[in-house]
Amino acid sequence: MRRAFLRGASLQANDAVAGELKDEFPIFRTHAGSGPLVYLDSAATSQKPLAVLDAMEGVYREACANVHRAIHTLGEEATRRYESARTRTATRLGAASRREVVFTRGTTESINLLARTLGEGFSSGDEIVLSEMEHHANLVPWQQLAARRGLKLRFVPVLDSGELDLAAYERLLGKKTRLVGVTATSNVLGTVNPVRSIADLAHAAGALVLVDAAQYIPRSGAKVTELGADFLAFSAHKHYGPFGIGVLWGREALLEAMPPFMGGGDMISDVTLEGFTANELPWKFEAGTPAIAEAAGLEAALDWLDSVDPDALGGYESELAARLIAAFDEIPGVRVLGRAPGRAGIVAFTVEGVHAHDLAAWLDRSGVAVRAGQHCAHPLSRRFGDGALAVSSARASFAAYSRIADADLLASLVRRAREEA
Ligand code: PMP
Repeated sequence: MRRAFLRGASLQANDAVAGELKDEFPIFRTHAGSGPLVYLDSAATSQKPLAVLDAMEGVYREACANVHRAIHTLGEEATRRYESARTRTATRLGAASRREVVFTRGTTESINLLARTLGEGFSSGDEIVLSEMEHHANLVPWQQLAARRGLKLRFVPVLDSGELDLAAYERLLGKKTRLVGVTATSNVLGTVNPVRSIADLAHAAGALVLVDAAQYIPRSGAKVTELGADFLAFSAHKHYGPFGIGVLWGREALLEAMPPFMGGGDMISDVTLEGFTANELPWKFEAGTPAIAEAAGLEAALDWLDSVDPDALGGYESELAARLIAAFDEIPGVRVLGRAPGRAGIVAFTVEGVHAHDLAAWLDRSGVAVRAGQHCAHPLSRRFGDGALAVSSARASFAAYSRIADADLLASLVRRAREEA
């Protein structure tokens, strides 16, 4: 019988589960490299299990038609699969209704959607509070909006530990704060932010809360109600699902009050030559033919993730990270960025005398895939850099198919790189 990760089980016991689950990921048999693949870049995108690939292929083989418009059986079946993914997502998130689940292309589009709709209602002098550890996806759309609407952006500083300075955060909140946008898990530091307290403080100040859950959803089964968010964004591809689809969840009354995003088919209920009437939620925000096969893939990914226990998986990944950090701490010249307690399975690090890009290229020759650079978080890399010089780091990130041996191999290769530098 197929096993799930277990909370409270030993690292070795969960490693054995990961070993079994790894067989469900074809990439480890069919990838382009020569030797075995040690994939430590799951924070960039996770690998996809067969169940997800099958669900997507199933749409193309059995139900390839456009959604919502067709009267024919095939179109009805495509619509059923597409909308079933929405219902599944709503249940997974603990949404009050499936009308609260908007499909987008991913986290980035979800946040842009919000900036272009909710954000356009903000006025000159209004403030948005973000953090210094945000991914560019949760910075640039607000910078663009601030320039359009004359808004002020304020930033919660990051402490050396990799945690947010919550005392400073409280001082940033005020009557002008309209929105607080924060990542649930840093894609660089692995810090898991106290989203609930951040949201409660924001609400007390009368502000709305957006949670960037791109790195959080893969590692937690938490419900949006527990997070206290008003909006939440994530991408399917980081949690075993396909590229090209993601979610913006929002409270129904807020979504209802927002204007549509892009214009076109499906987002309307009527059009005349003079104007249009917007469709109901959630289709009001879904212009054009959506990613139908990908929606089926997203549903399969949520099923897959839930079947292995995301909270226990998150715990396993954190333990792998702790093991890797303990090994790094034994190597002189290796610096780990951020030391927040309870971190996720994401470890960014630098090696004295070896540039992160050279290190990543060298590791790749041993079949080890890690990320290198500034991880789409330039301000954070500057914060942990030297003066104005941003730090370029390598990043290892774990997922359900990651093994103890992967972490140990990385640590031993890094030791060699450091010794030979
Ligand atoms: N936010 C965070 C925290 C991320 O890690 C990422 C992806 N690296 C994004 C947003 C953007 O996600 P996507 O590229 O799938 O839109």
